[in-house]
Amino acid sequence: MKTLIIETANAKILGELVTVGRLFCATPDVVVLGSGELAGSYGKAFRVADTLGANIGSGLADLIKSEGYELILLSTTAIGSGLAGPLAVSLGAPILSEVTGIAPDLTIERSLYGSKAVARYQAASGPLVLTIKRKYFEAAVLEGTTPTVDLPVGPQRIALLEEIDEERQGIPLEDAEVIVTGGRGIGTGDNFTILNDMAGLLNGAVGASRGAVDEGWMPPGAQIGQTGKIVAPNVYFAVGVSGASQHLAGISNAKCVVAINKDNEANIFKRARFGIVGDYKKAVPALINALKENG
Ligand SMILES: Cc1cc2nc3c(=O)[nH]c(=O)nc-3n(C[C@H](O)[C@H](O)[C@H](O)COP(=O)(O)OP(=O)(O)OC[C@H]3O[C@@H](n4cnc5c(N)ncnc54)[C@H](O)[C@@H]3O)c2cc1C
Repeated sequence: MKTLIIETANAKILGELVTVGRLFCATPDVVVLGSGELAGSYGKAFRVADTLGANIGSGLADLIKSEGYELILLSTTAIGSGLAGPLAVSLGAPILSEVTGIAPDLTIERSLYGSKAVARYQAASGPLVLTIKRKYFEAAVLEGTTPTVDLPVGPQRIALLEEIDEERQGIPLEDAEVIVTGGRGIGTGDNFTILNDMAGLLNGAVGASRGAVDEGWMPPGAQIGQTGKIVAPNVYFAVGVSGASQHLAGISNAKCVVAINKDNEANIFKRARFGIVGDYKKAVPALINALKENG
């Protein structure tokens, strides 16, 4: 099936789309958005300087029609989601967003209701636009390079004035192997210092539940869950987090969840492999001491 990937040069996101693309086509083609250096071997590689769906959707639809692509893969990022809609409208093609599973026979899965349910679809062949949810597919290693052909950008209907980077230090949550997340049970913003200490010893990152973000203890960029970041660490510490379904939606791919909560009936324990029932103010310092003792 003739497959086109559309994404920026971000190797991790692109790698996940390549993994999906290879289910349908040995060497999918790619449109790389923006100016980053493209890694990996593709059938054909095009470049579009702009990233705004409103500006480039119809131009890309022309390319897709002329090349006869049947499957168009984007990611569930701001850029991918912003482009998928205009593209599907210009193509008159169906779209499925936030895909979490897909098979070569075009059986497609999406998780629903904060990962409490899975919906399964059967798509007919023909132009089909999919946005692939991050962290559900192992990223392919992108070896080699492919020269890109510049595609003209359509009329700029919307101009991007400025992008203001979120101020965050340390390892990005999406890439962290270990995450220590604090919830409303942490009590104050200052108490997150102890979680920072623990994450530092584990070379990890600190996240937050929406409860903690709503309290103003952590910035929105640290929120994990349905309306926050989707993460997939090897170890996820949930400290003072109740385990609401919307929070669990962000950690469904975490390998090992360790919960610390003083309420032994907290929902987070259903998701946890290891649990400590008790006050985190005792449990976390004890863990920190153990980590220090064991180097
Ligand atoms: C549309 C929608 C989208 C949402 N998206 C998200 C999302 O992306 N992410 C998200 O997290 N939530 C999200 N929510 C909110 C979610 O429903 C919960 O309200 C939220 O996750 C609760 O945060 P919390 O667990 O920190 O707080 P709480 O539910 O208040 O839980 C605090 C926990 O801390 C424990 N605790 C208290 N003191 C201590 C102590 N000293 N030691 C140990 N444990 C202690 C308590 O027993 C309790 O279990 C969303 C809600 C909606 C409606």
